[in-house]
Amino acid sequence: MNPSTEIENGLPLDMIIFGGMGDLAMRKLLPALYMAFLHGNLPATTRIVSTGRQDFDREAYLAHVEENSRSFITQSAFNDKTWDGFLKLLEYVRLDVQAAPDFGGLAQVSRPGAQRVFYLSTAPALFTIICDKLAAAGLVDGNARVVLEKPLGHDLPSAIEINEAVGKHFAESQIYRIDHYLGKETVQNLMVLRFGNSILEPLWRAPNISSVQITVAEELGVGSRAGFYDGTGAMRDMLQNHLLQLLCIVAMEPPTSLNADAVRDEKLKVLRSLRRFTLADIARDTVRGQYTHGVSGNQEVEGYLEERNVPEDSKTETFVALRTYIDTWRWSKVPFYLRTGKRMQRRSSKIVVEFANPPFPLFPDAPGGVANRLVIELQPEEAIKLQIMAKQPGSGMQMQQVTLNLDLQSAFQQRRAEAYERLLIDVVRGRLTHFMRRDELEAAWAWADPIINGWTTLGEKPHPYPAGSWGPAESFALLARDGHAWVE
Ligand code: NAP
Repeated sequence: MNPSTEIENGLPLDMIIFGGMGDLAMRKLLPALYMAFLHGNLPATTRIVSTGRQDFDREAYLAHVEENSRSFITQSAFNDKTWDGFLKLLEYVRLDVQAAPDFGGLAQVSRPGAQRVFYLSTAPALFTIICDKLAAAGLVDGNARVVLEKPLGHDLPSAIEINEAVGKHFAESQIYRIDHYLGKETVQNLMVLRFGNSILEPLWRAPNISSVQITVAEELGVGSRAGFYDGTGAMRDMLQNHLLQLLCIVAMEPPTSLNADAVRDEKLKVLRSLRRFTLADIARDTVRGQYTHGVSGNQEVEGYLEERNVPEDSKTETFVALRTYIDTWRWSKVPFYLRTGKRMQRRSSKIVVEFANPPFPLFPDAPGGVANRLVIELQPEEAIKLQIMAKQPGSGMQMQQVTLNLDLQSAFQQRRAEAYERLLIDVVRGRLTHFMRRDELEAAWAWADPIINGWTTLGEKPHPYPAGSWGPAESFALLARDGHAWVE
C-alpha cells in the first residue's frame, strides 16, 4: 500500500453513502474505494459511513460487505491485510431517509468539521428529502460535496426539479453529477489526443471529417432492472447522458484552460448547438428497436416482452439509433450517428471518426470504403487505432488498409484505474472537470425531450430485432442512405 495522502484542505474525510446496502454500492463504489485505499489515494483520516434501512450493527454490515462486495475486486488487487485495513474505515448507520430523527444519528457519527462527501446512490426521488434533512441536521457546510447518480430526471422539468432541490442546500461547485463514461481513461485521453497534439486539430472539422459514429452496445438484456427500465428506455437510460457526453468530448472546441468550467463551457456549447428535431426529422432520422427472442452469448434468450416485470404490450425501446447534426462552422453538414442497445451481438462501445476520402482516386485498385478512420474503443477493452492505407509489398501499387495501434498498454505500464475509482478520487480532491454541470444536464434534456415526445405523437412502435444482433434493419438503412455503414 502506498502512503496515504491528505486532501488539499487538510480536513478529515467522511464519505457518507446513501444506498450503502444497494447494488451499486456493493458492485462499484466499495470496490472502487478499496482500490483507492490500496493505492494510497484516500486520506489516512477517511471514514466511510454507509446508510440503509436494515437494522444492522457494524459487524453485520461488514459481513454483508464481505459477502456482497469483496468478489467485485479484481483478484490480483486483493490482499487480506489491505482488505482488513479498508474494513476498518467502514461504519454503518441505520437510517430511513423519511425519518428526520435518523439524521440525528448520522450527525453523531460524522465528525464535526470533517470534509463530508454525500454519495446519493438511491432512486433520485429521494434526493430532495435527503438534501433537506441533511441540511436540517446541520450536516451541510461550505466544504460539503454531494455526488448524484443517474438517472438525473426523466425529462427537463424533472431534471430542473432535482437541480433546484439539491441547489437549495449545495452551491453548484459542491455538486458532482456523475457519468461514469467521463471517468474512462480513453475518454479522458481523447481530450489529450485532440488538444495535446497539433496534427489532428486542423483535420478535426468539416469537410475533412465525413461522419462520426458513437456506439454503446450491451450484450445483456434488462435482467432484474425491468421494472425501472420499462418506464425509461434506451434514449433516457443511455443516449441522453452517456452518448451525448461522448459526443461533447469529440465535438467541443479547445477550452481556454483545464479549469472545470472552461471545459464544461465548451461542452455546453456543443449541446446547445445540437440541431433540434422536428417531427419529420424524428420520423426520418431516428430508429427505435426492441429485442425479441434470440441467441446471445451462445444461449437462447427471451425477448424483451417475455422478461419478468415487462408489460406484454410494452412499447419501450431497448435500442435507439439516430442521426444528428451540430450546427456550428466546425461541424456543418457532418452527420453524427449515435446508437445504443441491449442484447446486441456483443458488448462494445466505440467512437469512430471517419475522414473524407482523397478527392481523386489515384490508385485504380483502391479497395472501396473509407480510407481513414480513428477508432476509439471504450469497451470491452480501451484502445485507440488509426486506420490508414498502405502499399501492399510487391510489384504494382496495390493498396491495403492497415491499422496504426496506439499501444497505450505497452507505452504506460501503470495500472489503469476503473472509472468509478478515478471519479471518486476526483470528488475527494474537489476536481469537477469530469462531472456534468447543471446547465449541461438541462441542455441535454432540452434536446432529448422533443424526440421522446415526438415518438409518442407519431405513435412510433419500436422495430423488433433478434437478441444477439446489431439491432433492427432500419438502423443500417439510416446510414446506408448517406453512403455510410456502422463499424462493428
Ligand atoms: P438498489 O440496489 O435498489 O439500492 C437502492 C438503495 O436505496 C438501497 O440500498 C436502499 O436501502 C436505499 N433506500 C431506498 N429507500 C430508502 C429509504 N427510505 N431510506 C434509506 N435508504 C433507502 O439500487 P442501485 O442499483 O444500488 O442503484 C442506486 C441508484 O444508482 C439508482 O438511482 C440507480 O438508477 C443508479 N445507478 C445504478 C447503477 C448500478 O449498476 N446498480 C448504475 C448507475 C446508476 P435499504 O433497502 O438497504 O434500506
